[in-house]
Amino acid sequence: MLAVSGLQAGYGNLQVLRGVEFTVKKGEFVSLIGSNGAGKTTLLRTISALIKRSAGVVEFDGERIEGLAQDAIVKRGLIHVPEGRKLFSDMSVLENLELGAYTKEARKKKKENLELCYELFPILKERVHQIAGTMSGGQQQMVAIARGLMSCPKLLILDEPSIGLSPLLTKQVFEIIEQIKGKGVTVLLVEQNAKQAVALADRSYVLENGRIVLEGTREELLHNDQLKAAYLGH
Ligand code: ATP
Repeated sequence: MLAVSGLQAGYGNLQVLRGVEFTVKKGEFVSLIGSNGAGKTTLLRTISALIKRSAGVVEFDGERIEGLAQDAIVKRGLIHVPEGRKLFSDMSVLENLELGAYTKEARKKKKENLELCYELFPILKERVHQIAGTMSGGQQQMVAIARGLMSCPKLLILDEPSIGLSPLLTKQVFEIIEQIKGKGVTVLLVEQNAKQAVALADRSYVLENGRIVLEGTREELLHNDQLKAAYLGH
């Protein structure tokens, strides 16, 4: 579904990505972990064309997308839920969700997708007219993920959805991500919460200093001494 190779990008003279290689297969749930400043957000933003790459290839659904504009990428079903949620805080929950349904396909499936969002996040159905900015951090994160689902994702990319959430809410958000995978959506999750992300995802990658330094399945990584020592806190 997604294949990234030799990807390089940065900000001005600062090179952040130094030849990133990784893949996400259809139906898979992949996580990408790494310490602060490793380049995780930059990688996601480069894939979504929010940052211009200096080298490398991004293939999505069998086609190269690295030269395309952001809206063309969204149209193909690569949907990025950014770090920090970026909701329209003066608008209601429903208005925020509807803004996710802006492609032709998403407009057609608006009703169906809204039902899916309400099934996954019953609280949003109850609070559909609440102003998004007045909701708790966890609920706002749910709105952000639900807005992503309104865009008909083939691949849903989530950048640190647990940021600022309590352990309990983080657990809830992770459970919902599993359910989203259960609906047939391919998921790429970026997390600083390494232990939970690795335990949840089918496969994970570790990004360090702009390069992938380790890759493995859940079972492989949970027993990997190098990873345990550096990221998993035992
Ligand atoms: P975090 O978990 O802190 O978000 P990260 O792994 O996502 O970390 P990035 O946000 O991609 O890391 O940052 C990688 C490097 O790029 C860091 O050195 C950071 O200071 C720098 N950087 C990030 N955004 C910008 C920007 N807009 N302009 C200049 N430098 C940036």
